Amino acid sequence: MKAIRVHQLGGPEALVLEDIPTPTPSRGEALVKVAAAGVNFLDVYQRTGRYPLLLPFTLGMEGAGTVESLGPDTQIAGIAPGARVAWAMHLGSFAEYAVVPATKLVPVPAGIDDRSAAAAMLQGMTAHYLCETTYPVKSGETALIHAGAGGTGLLLIQMCKRRGARVLTTVSTPEKAELARGAGADEVILYTQTDFSAEARRLTDGKGVHVVYDSVGKTTFDGSLACLRPRGYLVLFGAASGAVPPVDPMVLAQKGSLFLTRPSLANYAAERGELLQRAGDVLGWIANGELKLRMEHVYPLADVAQAHRDLESRQTTGKLVLVI
Ligand code: NDP
Repeated sequence: MKAIRVHQLGGPEALVLEDIPTPTPSRGEALVKVAAAGVNFLDVYQRTGRYPLLLPFTLGMEGAGTVESLGPDTQIAGIAPGARVAWAMHLGSFAEYAVVPATKLVPVPAGIDDRSAAAAMLQGMTAHYLCETTYPVKSGETALIHAGAGGTGLLLIQMCKRRGARVLTTVSTPEKAELARGAGADEVILYTQTDFSAEARRLTDGKGVHVVYDSVGKTTFDGSLACLRPRGYLVLFGAASGAVPPVDPMVLAQKGSLFLTRPSLANYAAERGELLQRAGDVLGWIANGELKLRMEHVYPLADVAQAHRDLESRQTTGKLVLVI
């Protein structure tokens, strides 16, 4: 089968299309014929070694397709040969077939195509846990979301609005600002031109925001802390601009008894019940039209390196998907 393999850490050129044997599912696993796979910033961290993995590996942390076969003694309700399934947070989806633990697979409802399912899983469940569980933003509260026109950002704006919050968001260009507004953002700040922290304070009459959902990291971290109101929450969930240097906890006291957390989807969808509930919400909201996916960028598997170049150069909006 064809697969995108990484033998050496590095730039997009480290992604190599190869023929490798189709894997065999062991106990508790399913072999899935992959139809579509989502591209995520997480892939970049794995490709470059920021998140270390054993080499060589097949890249890709989410996908959708059809169950081909099950390993011995594998019995999970709804997961059987022929079932349409999707998954996230398991390596190996940039390939024609993937072996996935059956407990990580969720059934895809009729009415959602494979591309949408693959596109929704990782970023959708991330947006879901951030605003439903990590900091469940409430009606009447103000949230600041960085990179609001990105894959996760567009979904998070919609989910925070769904909860009744006022949403401020940052983006790098006027075109991205339009998209973020279209997703429901109340105020959009061009953080490449404006001091977003001062602007967020101005927009909240000097009080500051209740929560910042920050996936940008290095270039936004200090400003995010500075625009929170006392006892506000900084939810740092990514590092698109680079890693945040070590933090002195006293800073949190000095800036108003703030909370800082660095969550990961892995800890918010580990139990099967929680996974099914989160994925069920996300896929259900897409199916009933409550949540809109933006999938402007669809690439063949062989063009994954270009997808990575586009993602890293800040040229993309919404979700990037590979068709297999
Ligand atoms: P996005 O589609 O959001 O792309 C990243 C965006 O970050 C860019 O479009 C860009 O938006 C912004 N950005 C700011 N500075 C830079 C920079 N120096 N280089 C590149 N981009 C920059 O990607 P994803 O939705 O896939 O991921 C967003 C973030 O969320 C990532 O940091 C990822 O690791 C994180 N994440 C974390 C998870 C978790 O559980 N902790 C799970 C899923 C994602 P603009 O041009 O508007 O600035």
